[in-house]
Amino acid sequence: MTGHDHTHLRPWRAITRRPSRKIRVGNVEVGGDAPITVQSMTNTLTADANATIGQIRQLEEAGADIVRVSCPDVESTAALSTIVRASKVPIVADIHFHYKRGIEAAKAGAACLRINPGNIGRPDRVREVIQAARDHGCSMRIGVNAGSLEPHLLEKYGEPCPEAMVESALDHARILQDHDFHEFKISVKASDIFMTVAAYQLLSEQIDCPLHVGVTEAGGLRSGTIKSSIGMGNLLWAGIGDTIRVSLAADPVEEIKVGFDMLKSLGLRHRGINIIACPSCARQGFNVIKTVETLEARLAHIATPMSLSIIGCVVNGPGEALMTDIGFTGGGKGAGMVYVAGKPDHKMDNEQMVEHIVQLVEAKAAELDAARLLEAAE
Ligand code: SF4
Repeated sequence: MTGHDHTHLRPWRAITRRPSRKIRVGNVEVGGDAPITVQSMTNTLTADANATIGQIRQLEEAGADIVRVSCPDVESTAALSTIVRASKVPIVADIHFHYKRGIEAAKAGAACLRINPGNIGRPDRVREVIQAARDHGCSMRIGVNAGSLEPHLLEKYGEPCPEAMVESALDHARILQDHDFHEFKISVKASDIFMTVAAYQLLSEQIDCPLHVGVTEAGGLRSGTIKSSIGMGNLLWAGIGDTIRVSLAADPVEEIKVGFDMLKSLGLRHRGINIIACPSCARQGFNVIKTVETLEARLAHIATPMSLSIIGCVVNGPGEALMTDIGFTGGGKGAGMVYVAGKPDHKMDNEQMVEHIVQLVEAKAAELDAARLLEAAE
């Protein structure tokens, strides 16, 4: 936290989250006053436990709160217990249709099943899956997708639309509620951002369970990030969303990074270094773009929330530094000014600046972490 962004002083920054009930995904809370969590999904073969654990490790390091793995076959659910044991974060098992995979996944220690109860079929099978979830402390996610709506809803509405998606979600939810099972969250995703946003808005008014927000099949790294940011950003800004997944045709680690950046931009979650940088121009006193690139890489390991401003010249440097924990503003004659807690502190040569900033940030992070530990111990 920068100590500078108190929303009570800046009401135009306040986001009021939609009240939702809280559920658990393993040891992670979702909904209510719990922080908005960031998820991703592995794209390894789940049956290859080692490869999957390796990818989960990378996602954990990037800050993932929850990871989903797909369980299309019995080989996958067989590998699941090894995967769950090796993971620090709770694992969601993605199940489609095959109720047996759901039961196996619950037994294997999945923290949550992504399954649509209406797709399971026979009522005794539905009951069995719900019972397995209950017995093993598993929550569920109902995941409605505009591309796979039930035929009777497509017939009723003519084409996929927000109303059809919400009706589908509520139908699935009713099955769980009828079994007195309330540990579930819902997603209503479409690849079209207008449909996604409208569906979540509609759903948010009709049920109080936590919502898992995402734009499905958003696209590649850049286009998918932009699409997701507009759609999910719109919802999050309106206070809708308790856990998020950015779906990118890219390395899943990127999904986590984008998810956190989205939440950071909205002040909903703080993790790692938030770098504020100017685009640079002829006035720059040092190479801003290269410096920011280097600093991003050098500071990627810091999880402590902190802000850093890297600004080319005094036009915007002092103003931005005022609102960040540490700042550097280009000056002239190969040196610039280092700001600490918003105040000019000392001059530093451009040549040594990257090394110096890294040291300052690492020291400040250690200091903040120690303070937090002390606070927690009291
Ligand atoms: S802060 Fe200075 S260097 Fe950066 S873009 Fe603005 S005028 Fe250019």
